[in-house]
Amino acid sequence: MIPFAFTFELKDILLILIGLFLGLFFSFFKKDYRQKREKKISDDLAYIKGINYVISNEPDRAIEELIKVVKFNPETVSAYIMLGNLFRSQGEYERAIRIHQSIVLREDLDQRIKLQAMFDLSLDFKKAGLFNRAIDSFKEVIKFSSDNIEAFIHLEDIYEEVKDWEKAFKIRQKIASLRNSKEEEVLAHLLTEHGKEKQALGKRDDARKYFENAIKYDEKCVDAWLNLGDLYFLKGEIEKAIYAWEKVIIFSPSLTFDIFSRIKKALFNKDDDEKIFRFLEDMTKKYPENPYLKVILGKKLLDTGKNEKAVEQFLQAKKIKPNLKEARESLIKSYQAMGKLEEAIKEIKDMFSLFKENEYKYQCRVCGYETSQIIWKCPQCRRWGTIQEKDD
Ligand SMILES: [Zn+2]
Repeated sequence: MIPFAFTFELKDILLILIGLFLGLFFSFFKKDYRQKREKKISDDLAYIKGINYVISNEPDRAIEELIKVVKFNPETVSAYIMLGNLFRSQGEYERAIRIHQSIVLREDLDQRIKLQAMFDLSLDFKKAGLFNRAIDSFKEVIKFSSDNIEAFIHLEDIYEEVKDWEKAFKIRQKIASLRNSKEEEVLAHLLTEHGKEKQALGKRDDARKYFENAIKYDEKCVDAWLNLGDLYFLKGEIEKAIYAWEKVIIFSPSLTFDIFSRIKKALFNKDDDEKIFRFLEDMTKKYPENPYLKVILGKKLLDTGKNEKAVEQFLQAKKIKPNLKEARESLIKSYQAMGKLEEAIKEIKDMFSLFKENEYKYQCRVCGYETSQIIWKCPQCRRWGTIQEKDD
């Protein structure tokens, strides 16, 4: 019995050992396989993202190289995604769409790779101007990754493009909650745009509500104040109009000339010179750091022959803002009127060295886009409220 029992135990132990060994072997193999697969996916994603930046400079060569890659390794999904992105960057949207679509439809791929392809497909639609398809596609991306801020930003951008301000507003609120920020500046601009649309349709009361709401979000939303002022003026509520326009002068002094011509139209008649003087003197006292008001007052003084006083105003304006063209031009005119030719010539020389031809007055503080007029959304980097007056 003993040997049998021994044999049984040994057999038993052997079986257990073999079982353990096999178990360990397979679990190790499986783990190893899983790790390799994980690594491959993350490599692929990194490859797609990284190469995106590199190839943006030489798309033609990159296309050539990638075609080689997919020819010899047809299973290289990341190379296909890249190739699609390159076609998009070259304006070949149909080809880009076809490639990205074929990846999205494949069933054997990891969800994250498919999601990346879906994101790129959405971008193809957007760039091709197929906004409805882009909206649906970005929504699909968001369904699988509900915290994808980039997808939300593109979605909002499309809603702005098609002037669906209400939806753009809602998406921006979502972005704000994802970023844990207020985004009040952008939200205010979106409300203002919505208000402008209402106003264009003749719905003044609705428009007013949007402008007022915009100001609640961002007290410094100049575009909202500007439109609110115009709206009050049209309704004959002059005091309220002046109040709103003054806010524009406070928050965006570079619009002072524009605002003053509105105020002049609202408050004064042609022969109201005295009143205008008083108003301007009050305003320059109220806003002593605003060089534009000084230029306006100076010009008025110059018109009425008060040259010395005019020069005083222009010099003060020039001191506050050395590159203020209007101050320097008016200064030259004053010196000419006063027969001070030497001073006039010196001022002209200074001006030539200061101003290049066609110099732009405004610039985007993020991407550097230059423009001669103030705009609320940068056409280059597509951000709200980043265009500002150039520094001295
Ligand atoms: Zn910009």
